[in-house]
Amino acid sequence: MTINGRAAETLATIDVINPATGDLVGCAPDCTIEQLDAAVAAARRAFPGWRATPIAERRAAVARVGEVLSTHADAFARLFTSEQGRPLAKVYEEILGAAFWCQTIANQDIPVEVNEDTPERRSETRYVPIGVVGGIVPWNFPILLGIWKIAPALLTGNTVVIKPSPFTPLCMLKLAELVRDHLPPGVFNVVSGGDALGPWMTAHPGIDKISFTGSTATGRRVMESAAANLKRLTLELGGNDAAIVLPDVDVATVAPQLFWSAFGNSGQICVATKRLYIHADIYDQMAAALVDCANSHKVGNGFDLEVALGPIQNRVQFNRVRDLIADARQSGLRFLTGGEVPDGPGNFVPVTLVDNPPEDSRVVQEEAFGPVLPLLKFTDIDDVVARANASEYGLGGAVWSADEAKAAEIAARLDTGTVWINQPPYIMPWTPFGGHKQSGVGVENGLSGILEYTVPQTISIKRNAA
Ligand code: NAD
Repeated sequence: MTINGRAAETLATIDVINPATGDLVGCAPDCTIEQLDAAVAAARRAFPGWRATPIAERRAAVARVGEVLSTHADAFARLFTSEQGRPLAKVYEEILGAAFWCQTIANQDIPVEVNEDTPERRSETRYVPIGVVGGIVPWNFPILLGIWKIAPALLTGNTVVIKPSPFTPLCMLKLAELVRDHLPPGVFNVVSGGDALGPWMTAHPGIDKISFTGSTATGRRVMESAAANLKRLTLELGGNDAAIVLPDVDVATVAPQLFWSAFGNSGQICVATKRLYIHADIYDQMAAALVDCANSHKVGNGFDLEVALGPIQNRVQFNRVRDLIADARQSGLRFLTGGEVPDGPGNFVPVTLVDNPPEDSRVVQEEAFGPVLPLLKFTDIDDVVARANASEYGLGGAVWSADEAKAAEIAARLDTGTVWINQPPYIMPWTPFGGHKQSGVGVENGLSGILEYTVPQTISIKRNAA
């Protein structure tokens, strides 16, 4: 681990398992509560100096984190595929994407708002850092989702304690090791551990803000636990995104894009398409095209260069997805492809397309977070909008149509943080991203996302009064 700019070891460790083989990749430190205290104390000590560091130096530090990622991209890529499972050719997008995020966030200006500027008074609002930020990261994008927290927190003058998922801790531990000597001690700490560590962080009185990405169920626990010292919170949680496909689309062009919207990272993406509503007029044609896509992509070990879809990242999630598929079978639902999950070795689930299941079936209502997609028929726009919105989640959604204006009208009726028209999920550092309803609180990215790592401070001067 990296605590106060130095390597920290533990007696206890957690096993990191390669999800494609079941083999041990390595052992990660299991942080003790005393070590977490030490990391938080180091971050607190470093905070006054870091917040006073000129912004140009903080920009350079954030950019340097990105340089480290791109310089070591090949080594990160191999480590990433070993612990996360994603095919080697596809992990560069995340590693170099995270580097690009650092470069872009490093250049962001933090505004000063002038509220009043008269001969009598000047009032301005600045955005000042909060203090110590605890970042809690999931296993599906273990580098990028960490960088979404680290880059804006450091830029705005906070210090951080980051906790990767116990399933995928190695890349983040390595990043901290490589960055350690480039930052003042205590500014950037990374700790890893088992199930106890997250709750210790969210309850820790020395942490001022938690930025959490993970499931909605855990997000609720984070919010409860953070109440004790009224921590600031950003929560990026689960989703059950609907895509609505109108009958005027070109099936051959759109089908592969829908396929990757749903099955990128083997469906383990918060904004993956998880319910696909297809107009009845093109349903059969689109279903057949999606089956063709499924049959043309190999599922397997990410180190095999022919593999397009890797394993489910961990056994817990694998069992959840397998259970969802078993429930669909027991309920008499029809599979267009897939539906048979081998026991192992490796957490492999074939692409599974479910043929027009009832709206209240589990495979429609629950977030699969795996390569399972219900295809659902519709004929009426009001009806499909109501079905798309009938979810506790409100993360993302999509509309596909040759008629852009009509698609935009439908998009505006979806209760979600983002709606993509005629494209798979497209997320950029300059665009605010967050969930409505139970999909989250606050946003990441864009100026609004960066400002979530600050608190407003207004200075009001009465002129010529003293
Ligand atoms: P998870 O909630 O199980 O775990 C996320 C992180 O929280 C891990 O680091 C975990 O160790 C930690 N954690 C677990 N229990 C905790 C507790 N009580 N207190 C504090 N921390 C705790 O989620 P996961 O299975 O790793 O990730 C999958 C989920 O994340 C899916 O629901 C997915 O939609 C969601 N997700 C959301 C976004 C988004 O931006 N909205 C992005 C990626 C993933």
